[in-house]
Amino acid sequence: MNRERLAGGLTAMGIAFDQTALERFEAFHAILDEYNARMDLTAVLEEDERVDRHDLDSAAPLAQGLLAQQARVIDVGTGAGFPGMPLLILRPDLRMTFLDALQKRIAFLQDALSRLGLTAQTLHARAEDAARMPEHREGYDAAVSRAVANAAVLEELTLPFLREGGLAIAWKGPGVQEELTAARRAAFVLGGTVRGVVPAPVPGRADWQHVLLLTDKTGKTPKAYPRKAGTPGKKPLGM
Ligand code: SAM
Repeated sequence: MNRERLAGGLTAMGIAFDQTALERFEAFHAILDEYNARMDLTAVLEEDERVDRHDLDSAAPLAQGLLAQQARVIDVGTGAGFPGMPLLILRPDLRMTFLDALQKRIAFLQDALSRLGLTAQTLHARAEDAARMPEHREGYDAAVSRAVANAAVLEELTLPFLREGGLAIAWKGPGVQEELTAARRAAFVLGGTVRGVVPAPVPGRADWQHVLLLTDKTGKTPKAYPRKAGTPGKKPLGM
């Protein structure tokens, strides 16, 4: 791993890190390579690209102070651990839950967490089902998600996990503007209010125009939501 690139990027973003964090990033990359050599876990990226696209991009909310100390956070559709793993490496105080519908990704994350010496919960489930479990419903301070679904669908996959006052953070590109009207309508139905879109620049990648879509949990989610697994994607609210 290119440590200088990662350290320089984090510094440019104003994000604090220590030597242990850099070592854990390096170890996490090695574990990813090890798994990718024997299964199709995630797209294989060139080393610098991985630092930018995975590590720095995932860290964006820390540049904006969006996650309080010891916040309970759920990463919905985490895949190979993005954005949740970089967030946890940089902020081991976070109480992180990694959620994915694919068992092989959850097994990978369990192994990675134990080898990195990090503590977190993992959950093999569809978001629609997990959000109906009492121990997960309306109990989180923040829900993060990257590259999982369009904004209106994401509102239904994330807002039911949040307590009132919690925050949903969705990683998006410049196309988010076209998703906003439906997302606002969907959030309203689910007890949320779209706060807006904030730039989430990755150092040296001005052309990416990455943003975070922020939605506040302003009320309770009605019991009817989320609808049964698959329905949010097939019939998005607000569209
Ligand atoms: N967030 C990761 C990233 O940015 O690299 C992974 C993105 S991958 C394109 C989408 C992931 O979301 C997959 O691992 C998939 O299994 C998961 N996923 C999609 N819909 C889901 C749902 N309803 N509940 C749980 N996981 C879901």
